[in-house]
Amino acid sequence: MSEPGGPTSTPAAIGRVAAATPAGRDRPTVVLLRRGLVEKQGIRTRTCPQCGSSPSSGVFIRQLTRVPLWLRVLFIPSFVFFPWGPGVVLLLGALLRKRLRFTTTLCEECARADQRARLWRRLAGVGVVLLPLAAVFIVGSMPLELTVKVPLIMTSLVAGVAHAWAAHRGTRGRALSLARVDKVHIGLLGSSAWHEVLSRERPELLADRAVE
Ligand SMILES: [Zn+2]
Repeated sequence: MSEPGGPTSTPAAIGRVAAATPAGRDRPTVVLLRRGLVEKQGIRTRTCPQCGSSPSSGVFIRQLTRVPLWLRVLFIPSFVFFPWGPGVVLLLGALLRKRLRFTTTLCEECARADQRARLWRRLAGVGVVLLPLAAVFIVGSMPLELTVKVPLIMTSLVAGVAHAWAAHRGTRGRALSLARVDKVHIGLLGSSAWHEVLSRERPELLADRAVE
């Protein structure tokens, strides 16, 4: 049996956008779960599965979305066919995204860090769309040669994507996200503690375990 164990994260971590999980837990890892069970029962553990050390302090609702990678990759080239290209990509994104709603236990600190990290990612994602659109309208209305306008707009596009990429990288391991969803499985991308905690406390949720 595992000990309840007190919080091990340092107080210095609180209030920082970065590093809200204890050191060494930041390495993101995909844990493959049984979708049916997770959706029906939720994830209930005594230990917070995100930091693997603090006791869980409550049950939190999480709604995660996954847009296919090929569609995200198509976003930049789609601007060649502005405005229909990006419009079609955004529409396909809304149609093809997969959403998953489930409940999970977490400690207060990890729940906050996850929420903050996912908000940061969403804002960066909105920037990917808004930055180039703003550039199209602002640069487009300026009396400039097309050879100056196009590189300016492309720069804003690349800057938005680079920022979103940095926001994504910077919050890996703290933000819960979906690496995969199909009818049977959920690939949950979180900290490396998930597998360990679930193996100990809720092995039936893990897809790589035989069901009794
Ligand atoms: Zn935690």
